Amino acid sequence: MTALQPVRGTRDLIGEDFRRMHHVAETARRISALYGFEEWATPIFEDTGVFARGLGDSSDVVMKEMYSFQDRGGDNVTLRPEGTAGVCRALVSNGLTQTNLPRKVFYAGPMFRYERPQKGRYRQFHQIGIEVLGSAEPLSDAEVIACGWHIQQALGIAEGTVLEINTLGDAESRDAYRAALVAYFSAHQDRLSHDSKIRLEKNPLRILDSKDEGDRVLVADAPVIGDHLTPAAAEFDRAVKAYLTRFGVPFRENPRIVRGLDYYSHTAFEFVTDRLGAQGTVMAGGRYNGLVEEMGGPATPSVGWAAGIERLSMLLPEAPAAARAVAVIPVGDAAEGPALDLLQALRRAGVVAEIAYRGNLKRRMERANRIGARAALILGDDEIAAGVAQLRDLDAGTQETVPLAEVPGRLS
Ligand code: ATP
Ligand code: MG
Repeated sequence: MTALQPVRGTRDLIGEDFRRMHHVAETARRISALYGFEEWATPIFEDTGVFARGLGDSSDVVMKEMYSFQDRGGDNVTLRPEGTAGVCRALVSNGLTQTNLPRKVFYAGPMFRYERPQKGRYRQFHQIGIEVLGSAEPLSDAEVIACGWHIQQALGIAEGTVLEINTLGDAESRDAYRAALVAYFSAHQDRLSHDSKIRLEKNPLRILDSKDEGDRVLVADAPVIGDHLTPAAAEFDRAVKAYLTRFGVPFRENPRIVRGLDYYSHTAFEFVTDRLGAQGTVMAGGRYNGLVEEMGGPATPSVGWAAGIERLSMLLPEAPAAARAVAVIPVGDAAEGPALDLLQALRRAGVVAEIAYRGNLKRRMERANRIGARAALILGDDEIAAGVAQLRDLDAGTQETVPLAEVPGRLS
């Protein structure tokens, strides 16, 4: 029979690949907890409406990237392409929109988008993300960004990324800006890509985000939002940047960064790198003041970001090392029982310990070396009689006799 292969755009995470991904998620979990974020896990699939409403039907994701299907009961469901819509849906469905606001949520898990697979772009990928739900204060924007930056520092990758930030202003600013964009792009409509002609109708801001080369040439000379901000929106932007400076987070202003949906406002940002080729955005976020309402909840101003775990993993300076075991090696039948006791005593003391399921001393030593064990504990008849074990340091090649009761303490 032919061997089966994973589906295009999906990957098995084994060995170093798994450790990199796990290290990114664990680091983000630990650092976000320091900022008071609580982890939530929402379902991997939702009613399609959650994402159609959450992302807007003009977004690339909804137009062409969603894994949507009808289940056996006829319900239209979608494998989640991102995490924010589900978190907002959960806030509403669990009746959490009125109590303990702001809620600070962290999540991590797989996401699914039907995209052309390439380096740093997969059909099943993984994201970490944080959301502050229910705060309209510019300090929350800055704290969310500072937390993302702190995570990148803890991963040792902050030197290779740059924070680019923009403001989308409030509704009034954006209406004025949208009008200016429509006027500009309409005058050059014949040069727009097919997708951007649709965006011009549905959501002109999205054109600024287009990856089409021709569009990008036009975008370079397009009007900028800064010229259309109301005084209040300009003040919000100033406050966010002042807090970022206070937090010591360096940033660069980039007027081309947008989130194309109506409920996005004020802060929009991306952490970008030149170390991943075309897939240069590692973390992206912004303020979304209308999304919880889209989910049927009350007005709940919110801000957050999501980051691709694969892309962060690729930036790690080195792969986290695997834990190294201690190999317990009984010699002779009588030693097996005491060796198993010692094995479990080690594990209970927090020491990674392994025993080969069979084999003589030579075979077991070979296995210890193959799994990269840091030490071997050899127990024969003489050792059992004396209540000791031979402890061999497999890096140094030295060996000493250690009383059994002291072994776990010595190795933990
Ligand atoms: P891109 O411009 O790269 O398509 P995006 O704007 O679609 O990104 P977001 O929806 O903002 O991305 O998702 C946040 C982050 O998730 C991205 O910055 C990236 O790190 C990661 N990401 C998005 N899509 C993929 C994918 N298909 N494979 C791997 N990582 C992804
Ligand atoms: Mg995309």
